[in-house]
Amino acid sequence: MENFKYIILGAGPAGLTFANRLLALGETSFLVLEKDQEAGGLCKSKVVDGSPLDIGGGHFLEVKNRKALAFIFQFMPKAEWRQYHRVSTIRLDKSEIDYPFESNIWQFSIRNQLRYLYSILTAGSVFGKPKPENFKDWIIWKFGNQIARDYMIPYNEKVWSVNLKTMGTYWLNKLPKSSSKEIVLSYLQKKSKVAIPAHALFYYPKNFGFGEVWKRMAKKLGNKIRYNEPIESIHVHNKIINGKYHGSFIITTIPWRVVNFLPSIPDDIYQAIDSLQYSSIRVSYYPEQIQTHAQWTYVPNKSVSYHRCLYRSNFCTNARGYWTETNKKRAELHSTRHQPFWINTFAYPLNTIKKLEATKMILTYFSNKQIFGLGRWGEWEHMNSDIAVTKAIEMANAMDKKYHLL
Ligand SMILES: Cc1cc2nc3c(=O)[nH]c(=O)nc-3n(C[C@H](O)[C@H](O)[C@H](O)COP(=O)(O)OP(=O)(O)OC[C@H]3O[C@@H](n4cnc5c(N)ncnc54)[C@H](O)[C@@H]3O)c2cc1C
Repeated sequence: MENFKYIILGAGPAGLTFANRLLALGETSFLVLEKDQEAGGLCKSKVVDGSPLDIGGGHFLEVKNRKALAFIFQFMPKAEWRQYHRVSTIRLDKSEIDYPFESNIWQFSIRNQLRYLYSILTAGSVFGKPKPENFKDWIIWKFGNQIARDYMIPYNEKVWSVNLKTMGTYWLNKLPKSSSKEIVLSYLQKKSKVAIPAHALFYYPKNFGFGEVWKRMAKKLGNKIRYNEPIESIHVHNKIINGKYHGSFIITTIPWRVVNFLPSIPDDIYQAIDSLQYSSIRVSYYPEQIQTHAQWTYVPNKSVSYHRCLYRSNFCTNARGYWTETNKKRAELHSTRHQPFWINTFAYPLNTIKKLEATKMILTYFSNKQIFGLGRWGEWEHMNSDIAVTKAIEMANAMDKKYHLL
């Protein structure tokens, strides 16, 4: 049995940050266990057709927390990143307009301008109707029938591949609120007056894929990461992993449902873990060069399998070609004649109506046993890498402060 103060499960951004922060605080009794042969999790990149490709899907860096940004720049200095203003588009049948939809309605044909303006200006949210509790009704309430039918519902059904009525609305609170006044102003001035929800200004590495920064974080940890070590079991009472590693504290960034808990855990906790849903994404590469000013395009049309297309020459130095992101269930329905492709089984945690209740139960039960959930899967939260980094720094600081003398 090998003994450590901390055992960290998973070497994605959350696990790597937690471990590196411990190291910076002077803590050396820890081990990171990773099932893959390399680190980076969903943020990994590979060189494909001569240039980097993000095999977990398009990843762009936008960091609100200054400490998290400084932490990331320690591994990959600012000079190695290039900043871009986001240019993304929405392809709707024969039109392609800029994102976000509601502030670029003026780019459609006159007929569609009328339909979509009417839709958004007669939406339930404009008239103060109560906010619905499921995502599908929320879309109609927020954008009106026509925009819901042509864009938001088919697009979201493509991404999540579940009945949108099973998804909640609590996660939408963080989106910037656009008023009907801003939408009308954007329309009249033919210029978006609505805040872009994410990545309005983002960083992407000048000479590498997004995976490079995590590779460097992993390198700093040296032999404190064990690769090809899938976690199969956690003994919850004595905190033994796979029957051979013991930790006083376990930090888990891996999906709860892939682990066998020994000797057993209460039925309601099993049920809560079982209720956590996720969706899987296939990323496919195509070498053709598409002429566009966009970095990526959203595609709600259901006759096309993918929901997003990324033109890497618009953010990646000297690159050509593009890649697509397709929900795995839909990818299976469509041909896979285009190669190469990568499957990310755990890509998106789903924001189902009961998720908050379930995660609260799970995290409370396990934290009482000194097993702590962190990151996208440990917290089952649809968080970007900057949030995973921020939370990991905060957790490492707090634990080091509390248990330093242990
Ligand atoms: C399509 C897509 C686009 C995204 N775009 C962006 C973006 O533009 N910007 C951004 O900042 N973020 C983006 N994200 C989110 C980003 O990928 C996550 O925030 C980040 O990867 C979370 O890090 P994590 O360490 O919590 O989880 P992960 O990256 O999923 O890491 C978990 C790690 O655990 C390992 N693991 C899993 N099971 C086991 C096991 N049984 N045993 C041992 N190890 C295991 C995995 O191999 C992995 O290394 C995107 C995500 C997706 C899917």
